[in-house]
Amino acid sequence: MEQLGLSNNPVRIAIVGSGPSGFYAADPLLKSETPVCMVDMFDRLPTPFGLVRGGVAPDHPKIRNVTRVYEKIAAKDRFRFFGNVTIGSDVTVPELQGFYDAIIFANGAETDRRLNIRGEDLLGSCTATSFVGWYNGHPDYRDHTFDLSQEVAVVIGLGNVAMDVARILAKTVDELRPTDIAQHAFEALSESRIREIHIIGRRGAAQAACTPQELKEMGELAACQPIVNPKDIDLGRLCKEELSDRNRKRNVELLTEYANAPDRNSPRKMRFHFLRSPVDIKGNGHVESIVLEKNHLIGTEAFQQRAVRSGEKIELSCGLVFRSIGYRGIPILDVPFDDQKGTIPNDRGRILINGAIMPGFYAVGWSKRGPSGVIGTNKPDSLETVERLLEDVDGLMQCPVRENRAIVQFLKKKRLRYVSLADWHKIDEAELARGAAVGKPRERFTRIEEMLRVIER
Ligand code: NAP
Repeated sequence: MEQLGLSNNPVRIAIVGSGPSGFYAADPLLKSETPVCMVDMFDRLPTPFGLVRGGVAPDHPKIRNVTRVYEKIAAKDRFRFFGNVTIGSDVTVPELQGFYDAIIFANGAETDRRLNIRGEDLLGSCTATSFVGWYNGHPDYRDHTFDLSQEVAVVIGLGNVAMDVARILAKTVDELRPTDIAQHAFEALSESRIREIHIIGRRGAAQAACTPQELKEMGELAACQPIVNPKDIDLGRLCKEELSDRNRKRNVELLTEYANAPDRNSPRKMRFHFLRSPVDIKGNGHVESIVLEKNHLIGTEAFQQRAVRSGEKIELSCGLVFRSIGYRGIPILDVPFDDQKGTIPNDRGRILINGAIMPGFYAVGWSKRGPSGVIGTNKPDSLETVERLLEDVDGLMQCPVRENRAIVQFLKKKRLRYVSLADWHKIDEAELARGAAVGKPRERFTRIEEMLRVIER
C-alpha cells in the first residue's frame, strides 16, 4: 500500500458540515504539505456556510462577509463541496468510511435547549432557532408562522441570540428593508403589532451573556427604547468584582445609560428583567402569560455565582414567548453522542467512544465544545483538531476506495442530487441578482426545490 499523505496518495478527509468550524478545519488541511490532504465537505443543505448564512442576523452584514474567506478556501485545489447530502441518512457513516481515511464532524448544534417548564409547547411559545431560521430564509423554517398580531413578546435568555431576536422584533420596516432578511419575514414583520419586548435574564446585569456591541445596538434603534430598572444595576460586591471582565464592565455601563435615559416616547419598548426565571407559560391553547420567579445570586466567588429561586413569583401578560437559552447538538447515526451535553465526546477533537479514541473520527466547532463563542473562536478550535489528525496520519487505516470520482459515482448511483461548488455559485449569483433587483444585498431562495431548479437552468 502506498504511503499515506504523498501527493499521489493524499489523506482523504470528509468534513461533515460547511459552517465556520468546517471551513477553519479545511483551511490548514489544504495548506498542509506533509502530509498532503484532500477535503470533501458535505452539507445537508444545498448551500454552504451553516450559521453564517442561517444564523447571523440580516442586519449584521459585516459578520456575514466572512464567507469571502470561506470562498477562498473552497476555491483551493483538492477541495470539493457536496451539498444536499445528509450524512447519517442519505449516506451512512460506514458508507462514508469507504471513501475517506478520516471524517471530521462539524455539524454544529442544530436544536434548542429546553426550559422543561409547563406550557413550553403552547402555541405562541417558540424557539429562537425557529425564528432566526425563519427570518434568514432557512428552508427548514420557511413555513413556520409567528403571531405578530400580538402586542407583547417575551424573549428568554440574555445571550447574543436573544439580542438578535429582540432586535429584529424591535426594528422598523425602514431599518429592515436594506438588509437581506427573507422576503416572507420582512412582509410579516412589516405588519407586526409588537410594542413591548421583555428580555428575561435568570442572573444579574453583570452576568449578561451577550457582548457589548449587541447591547449597544439596543440604544440605537429607531423606534424602540431599551428600559432598565435602576435597581438592577445597583450591584453587590461580587458582581462589582466581575466587572474586571471588560465585556461585563461595558455591558453594565450600557445598561446604566439605559436606566438613566429620559423617556423617548418610543412606540416600542424593550424592557430588561434580571434575576427572573420562567417557571410556567400559561394560556388556553395559546400563550397568554408567563410566570417568572425572582432569583437571587448565591456563591462566594466572583464569576461563580448561580441563580437560586426565591419563591416570589410575578405574572407577565404576553402573547409570544421566544426561548433563547442556548443551542444543542443533534446526534448522527453511528457517531458517539453525549446526551447530557448535546455534543460529541472527544479529547481535543479526537472522538471518543466509551472513553477510547475512535480512530479516524474527529470533531470541531459546536459539536465538539458546545454552543459557545463567536465565529472566530472556531479558528483555533478547528486547528487544535486538525493538529491531532495530522499527528495521527501514520496510524490511520487507509480507506479502500482511493479514486476521486468514486464518491461522485456512488452518490449518483444512490440518485442523490448533490450540489457542487459550481452549482452553489449558480445559486449564489441568482440570489444576488434577485436582491439587486429589489435593492437588497441578496434575496435568498428559501426552498430546496427552488435552489435545485436554479442549478438545472
Ligand atoms: P448563550 O450565549 O449561551 O446565552 C444563553 C442565555 O440563556 C444566557 O443568558 C443563560 O443564562 C440563559 N439560560 C440558559 N439556561 C437558562 C434557563 N434554564 N432559564 C433561563 N435562562 C437560561 O447562548 P446563545 O445566545 O444561544 O448564543 C450561542 C453562541 O453564539 C454564543 O457564544 C454567542 O455569543 C454566539 N452568537 C454570537 C453572535 C454575534 O457575535 N453577534 C450572535 C449570535 C450568537 P446564564 O448566563 O445564567 O447561563
